[in-house]
Amino acid sequence: MELLEKKILNDGKVCDGGILKVDSFLNHQLDIAFLNEIGKEFKRRFSDVEINKIMTIEASGIAIACIASQYFGNVPVVFAKKTESKNLDKDVYDSDVFSFTKGKTYKIKVSERYVNEGDKILIVDDFLANGFATLGMIDIVKKGGGEVAGVGIVIEKSYQPGGNLLRELGVNLHSLARIDFDEDNNLIFKKD
Ligand code: 5GP
Repeated sequence: MELLEKKILNDGKVCDGGILKVDSFLNHQLDIAFLNEIGKEFKRRFSDVEINKIMTIEASGIAIACIASQYFGNVPVVFAKKTESKNLDKDVYDSDVFSFTKGKTYKIKVSERYVNEGDKILIVDDFLANGFATLGMIDIVKKGGGEVAGVGIVIEKSYQPGGNLLRELGVNLHSLARIDFDEDNNLIFKKD
């Protein structure tokens, strides 16, 4: 997606440890006009897929999912919780996720009320790195008897294995930008 690639080149910052900082438009300050374009692009990529719900993970995925939902007929958005909360139902589907950015494993949880038999769920997230967050959400969808209709990622870090792992598993994955680095350590976009 050309607009996204331009935005990453103009406003993104590459940090140590393979981290791309895009907090001026994607996951801290939010550029709403830009997120609308992301939502439209997800709809274009998944136009032939039946979806009745979008799932994401707190916190960065929520804004992306909510804006995208408007292009999928305002389907409900459910987000996996990372933090313990007294408000969360006792009956939850959970899964262990190793966090790339935090360097530790934590549990993600979704109330059993919000994943149901026959659900056709589009999973969306800001980044795909090792794939753990996405695999955790896929696990939760399956535990609830739902089907993963697709996975939409804004930025896939193609130098980490998550993307290829999901493709090998047969997941209907669309990443709007796939980043990599050339031999001079310049940020490049993978097209294949
Ligand atoms: P994974 O579970 O695929 O290893 O990592 C995906 C999750 O880690 C995403 O939910 C995202 O929030 C976070 N993440 C992974 N890599 C980066 C990165 O380079 N920059 C930022 N901002 N977040 C990342």
